[in-house]
Amino acid sequence: MTSGPLLPRRDRIERVPVLILFPHERCNCRCLMCDIWKTTGRNQLSPEEVRSWTEEWRRLGVRRVVLSGGEPLLHPGFAPSARR
Ligand code: SF4
Repeated sequence: MTSGPLLPRRDRIERVPVLILFPHERCNCRCLMCDIWKTTGRNQLSPEEVRSWTEEWRRLGVRRVVLSGGEPLLHPGFAPSARR
């Protein structure tokens, strides 16, 4: 069996119209169907990380950012990051 030339890859991500962002993993609710509020970790995005990604998000055509995770408003740097 001979193989021909490889086809160009077509799975390169070029557009991301909706970005889902997890600012951190804390939540002040205690919903029964979710266990994220049991998380004791302190992982969270920093404003510097978000700023470092914004140019790439523009290039990828991000039009909407959906905040998920725990409760995004508990993030101390949420408001300044959301303005950009
Ligand atoms: S992350 Fe959402 S579903 Fe989970 S405890 Fe918080 S409010 Fe409830």
